[in-house]
Amino acid sequence: MQTVPHYINGQRVESAERFGPVFNPATGVQEKQVVLASRTVVIDAIESATGALPEWRASSLAKRTAIFFKVRELLAERTNELAAILTSEHGKVLSDAAGEITRGLENIEFATGLAQMLKGDFSQQVSHGIDVHSVRQSVGVVACVTPFNFPAMVPLWMIGSAIACGNTVLLKPSEKDPSSAIFIAEIFTEAGLPAGVLNVVQGDKEAVDELLDNPDVKAISFVGSTPIAKSIYNRAAANGKRVQALGGAKNHMVVLPDADLDMAADAAINAAYGSAGERCMAVSVLVAVGGIADDLVSAIEKRMKTLIVGPGTDPASQMGPLITGEHRDRVASYLTGAEAAGATMVVDGREQNFDSDGFFLGVSLIDHVTPGMKVYDDEIFGPVLSVVRVDTFDEAVKLVNDHEFGNGVALFTRDGGAARQFEFEIEVGMVGINVPIPVPVGSFSFGGWKNSLFGDAHMYGPDSIRFYTRGKVVTTRWPDPASSEIDLGFPQMA
Ligand code: NAD
Repeated sequence: MQTVPHYINGQRVESAERFGPVFNPATGVQEKQVVLASRTVVIDAIESATGALPEWRASSLAKRTAIFFKVRELLAERTNELAAILTSEHGKVLSDAAGEITRGLENIEFATGLAQMLKGDFSQQVSHGIDVHSVRQSVGVVACVTPFNFPAMVPLWMIGSAIACGNTVLLKPSEKDPSSAIFIAEIFTEAGLPAGVLNVVQGDKEAVDELLDNPDVKAISFVGSTPIAKSIYNRAAANGKRVQALGGAKNHMVVLPDADLDMAADAAINAAYGSAGERCMAVSVLVAVGGIADDLVSAIEKRMKTLIVGPGTDPASQMGPLITGEHRDRVASYLTGAEAAGATMVVDGREQNFDSDGFFLGVSLIDHVTPGMKVYDDEIFGPVLSVVRVDTFDEAVKLVNDHEFGNGVALFTRDGGAARQFEFEIEVGMVGINVPIPVPVGSFSFGGWKNSLFGDAHMYGPDSIRFYTRGKVVTTRWPDPASSEIDLGFPQMA
C-alpha cells in the first residue's frame, strides 16, 4: 500500500509510529496510508523551518517573485495531474477539482505581486530634518492547518502569501486527503524554493498541538470546523501567537419575489450540491420570500431529477461521493431528524441506490424547515438543501443575522435598492448579489463573521500581507552634531 509521507527540509520523510487510512471515496477502498507525525517529527520540521528562515527572510524580492512565476507555470501545466490526485482522495468530480486548483492559483498570482505589496510608506520632513518610513517584515515560522474539503486551494490560500512575505512554513493538511500538499510542496522545490522554506507535516491533533504550543511557531492560519477553530484560536492566542482561525458555515440564499425563478433554481442547485455540499460556501438554506416558495421548490425538484451522482473520474458525473462513510451516515441522520421534527422531505437522497461501496448519498431537498430544527441550526456539510419560507425582506434579513454562522450569503433579486439595503444590513462576511457562491477573487480577502471566523485577519489577499508581516516604523534624522543638546522633554514634532 502506498504511504503518503511528510516533506521536511526538501525531502520526503516516511518513518512513523502511527498511520491513518486514506480512502478512495468513490470505491470505499483504503488505497493509501498516511504517516501521522509524533511531536518529535513536528519538532524536526519546526527546526527545518527555523533553520531556513534567516536566508529566506533576507532573500531578494526579485528572487521570490521569480519562484512564484515558476510555481504558477508548473501548477497550471500540471493541473490535470493534481486534479486526479484530488479526486482519488476527496471524491469531487475532476472538473470541480481542476476548478479548485484554478481558484487556488489566484493566490499564487497575487503572490507574484509581492514587491508591490511589501512596499512601505515614507514621509519626508515630518519635523525639521526628520523623515519617517515604515517596513513590513516577516513574522517567522508560520503553521498552516487545513481541512479536507479543498486539499489544494486552502493550502494555496495560505502558503502563497506566507512565503512571499519572507516566512517559512509548516503545512499540516487534512489526514483524509494528504497527497495534494506533497505534490504542491514538490512543485515549489522544482520552482527553486530553498529546502526548509515549505515543509509538510502529516498528522492529526498530536501534530497540531505541537504547532500550537511550540514557541518557535509565531503564527497559525487555520481553516476547519468551528469547534476546532475556536479551540485553536484560544490555545494559540494564549501561547502568544498571531492566529486566524476560519470555521464552519450555514450559508443562506435569499430569493425575493421579483427574482427570475429559473435562474434562482439553477443557482440553488449548483451551490447546494456542487462538491456534494462539502464547500464552506455551499448554499444550505434557501429562503423563499413572499409567495414564491411553491414555484421555486418545484423548479428545484425538477432539476434535481436530472443530476448525475457517480464517481468523480466519470466525465458524466456532476457530483461525487462524500469524504467518508461515517460522514455520509452523519449527513443522512439529519434527514431522519428533519422528518421527525416536522419538515417536509421533497427529495430524499437516501432513496437513491448506488451499485457501489463508495460513500455516496443522493441529493436532498427539505421544505418547511424552521430555526430550532437541527437540520437548520447545524452545519451539515452534505448535499442537503433546506427551504425556509418567510413573508418579508425584513424577516429574511433577521433570519440570516440570527444564525450563529456568518460565512457567505446570497441574494437573488432584480431590485437594486433591495440589494443595497441587504448588503448594508446583513451580518455576513461575504455577500453575493445574484452570485450564489461569492468566494472573493484573490485580490480581495476571504473571511466570515460571527462563529465562522476567530481572529481579526481574513484569509489571502491584502489581509494576508498584514497577517504574515510585522510592521516596523523608522524615524530618521541626520543632524549637524553642533546642534546637539540635552533636553529631557518628550520629543515633539514641530
Ligand atoms: P476539521 O475541523 O475536522 O479539521 C480541520 C483540520 O484540523 C485538519 O487538518 C485536522 O487534522 C485538524 N484537526 C481536527 N481535529 C483537531 C483537533 N481536535 N485538534 C487540532 N487539530 C484538529 O475540519 P474538516 O472536516 O477537515 O473540514 C470541514 C470543515 O471545514 C467544515 O466545517 C467547513 O465549513 C470548514 N471550512 C471552512 C472554510 C472557511 O473558509 N470558513 C473553508 C473550508 C472548510
